[in-house]
Amino acid sequence: MVCYQYRKERLIIPGIKGQYNKGKYPYEEYHKYIDDVLYKKCAYHDIYFPDEEPWLPATLEYFYNAPKNKSDGLYPECKRCSSIRAYQRKKDNVEHYKKYDKLYYIKNKNRMKDTNIRFRVNNKEYFKQKGKEYRQSDRGKEKYKIYGKKRHEKKHEIYDVEWKNCKKYFDNQCAYCGLPIEEHYFPYKNELKLYDFHKEHVIDEGKNDLRNCVPSCNTCNTQKHKNSLNNWYNSSNSNYTYERYFKIYQWIRYDHKKYIMPKRRYKNQCMTARIKEIERLKISIDKMII
Ligand SMILES: [Zn+2]
Ligand SMILES: [Zn+2]
Repeated sequence: MVCYQYRKERLIIPGIKGQYNKGKYPYEEYHKYIDDVLYKKCAYHDIYFPDEEPWLPATLEYFYNAPKNKSDGLYPECKRCSSIRAYQRKKDNVEHYKKYDKLYYIKNKNRMKDTNIRFRVNNKEYFKQKGKEYRQSDRGKEKYKIYGKKRHEKKHEIYDVEWKNCKKYFDNQCAYCGLPIEEHYFPYKNELKLYDFHKEHVIDEGKNDLRNCVPSCNTCNTQKHKNSLNNWYNSSNSNYTYERYFKIYQWIRYDHKKYIMPKRRYKNQCMTARIKEIERLKISIDKMII
């Protein structure tokens, strides 16, 4: 704690450098003793809290520490008023404070992420409600439509046999980290469930057939996200091995050709052609009967 008594005595001695009494807030006007306790008048209480008592004990409980202030070592406004002032200052100079915000974020990135996660876990109900409201709003509906469309376009068009062979080619392991499929558990409704691998797009916006598909565990799938293979899966990745990288490369480049089957689209075209033929035949038969 600051020794206020000592400072007050210093103020009274005349001829000391920096005449503290002549400031914007004269010491004697803004300080007084009540029952042997030093009280200080908040300089901004009249503006923000006009109904409340402006005299508060001159301690760190009510005022922020100001080391440059040689009279009592405290700011002229109380903690509540100073937080309001800071908020307004920030609002008036948005551009000026933006760069400081950025620096602060870079310095405290991990800590802020942790607190955010903790806040989300502690307020599950609140976020559930917020999510529901967003999905039902006009903006949310539009966004979800676009999202659904994108997902639908990105779906792999692969036969079950092709997928089985693909997994077999990678020894039933995740192509990136080598996790065996028998250990690919994932929590679902407070239980661990065994899941199939994801059909991973190696090139994010590439083809939807077997040449662009490798089996991947849930964590690798989410970590890769939209990154390209070389950008994400290199020596800086903790799961990287050259053997696995080479295997993925071989699969994309050459080996998928051994397992790929005639395209579904082609088959569909055949089907529609046959249906049309049958319909045509039906009509002709009907005509024959008549
Ligand atoms: Zn105040
Ligand atoms: Zn993996």
